[in-house]
Order: sequence, then C-alpha cells, then structure tokens
Amino acid sequence: MQKGILFVLSGPSGVGKGTVLEGLMDDYNDINYSISVTTRTPREDEINGDDYFFVSREKFEEMKEKNQFLETAKVHGNYYGTPRHYVEECLSKGEDIILEIDIQGAKQIKKEFDDAVYIFLLPPNYEELKTRLEKRDSETPESLKRRLKNASEEISEVKNYDYSIVNDKVGDTVEEVKKVIKKERKLKKRGKV
Ligand code: 5GP
Repeated sequence: MQKGILFVLSGPSGVGKGTVLEGLMDDYNDINYSISVTTRTPREDEINGDDYFFVSREKFEEMKEKNQFLETAKVHGNYYGTPRHYVEECLSKGEDIILEIDIQGAKQIKKEFDDAVYIFLLPPNYEELKTRLEKRDSETPESLKRRLKNASEEISEVKNYDYSIVNDKVGDTVEEVKKVIKKERKLKKRGKV
C-alpha cells in the first residue's frame, strides 16, 4: 500500500500555527493531526489529550529513553515531543497526517522524512507577531521577550521549507494550506513524488 503524506506546519511562536491547524481540522476530516506531548503547564482553556498530552519532566524523559518520540525540542523553556507510534501508524495505513511543531523539531523530522511536505507560516510583520503574543495573555514578560528574540532567528529558516505562507488572515491561510495539501495529493497520485 502507498504510504500517506506527512505534512509539517512550522513557524515562529505566535504566528498562529495552532489557529490555522484548528481551522484546517474544522473543514477537513480526511487528514489526521498529531497531538504533541509537553511538559508545559496547561493554559486555562486547554484540555489534556486534546490540545496536548501534558506530562511531568520525568515522564517525558522516560518516553524519550524508550524511543517513543519522532522528535523532541526544548521550546521557550519547556519540552515538546511528537509521539512516534501514531504518526507511523497513519502513514503506513496510507493516511495523511499533519504535525504542528517548532523549527528545531521540523529539522529533526527532515532527517528521517525527506519526502515530507514542509510548510512555513510567516507573520505579516514583527509588530503583528508581538501584538499576537501579547494578546494571548498567557505569556509572562520574560516568556514574551524570549519568544520574540527566538522568532527573528526562526524566520531565517524559511529557506529550508517547500512552501511559505504569510499568515495575515487566518481564513485565507487555511485556504492556502488546503491548496498545498490538494496539490501534493495530486502529485502523489500521478507518481511525481
Ligand atoms: P505553545 O507552548 O505556544 O503551545 O507552543 C510553543 C511552540 O512549541 C510552538 O512553536 C509549537 O509549534 C511548538 N510545538 C508544539 N508541539 C511540538 C512538538 O511536538 N514538537 C516540537 N518540536 N515543537 C512543538
């Protein structure tokens, strides 16, 4: 059986990856998404097993030792990882799956999955990124500063991605991501990838 396509959605923190993925999942039911594991404290509206699997640092290390992650990264002071089993299972069943991960994670995935499709979300500009992070209301002043400092370095990674999309209006970005998915599926059908 032909394997599914792995889509990797990445970009700096605050660019709106989560919101874009949510929009995509609302409209699309033929693509799976991977729920990450994190050691970060849940935000008020977050649900364990829905937004993330929230675990202790010890549990995270144990999973890492057991090779249960496809990639892991320390992002803005917390640990995140993509559970290996679910992604491999979807792909081997011929189902497509999308990951929403940071740039360090995407780099690790690239080493193992050269045939994945890499999509980078860009903020319209620096000020907008700052406003979005401030609006979240969940960042401490230190965390906000750290995320903004990391963002400029992260944006320079865009050159290593297959597609880049400026996330100005979420609805438009979701449509752009859908176009990428459709295009890649067509290419695969025609045996171009
Ligand atoms: P947040 O704490 O705002 O939910 O996420 C912080 C950053 O971690 C975001 O850039 C998000 O894309 C990234 N992230 C979420 N899950 C994972 C994961 O499993 N692996 C990696 N490498 N990054 C992740």
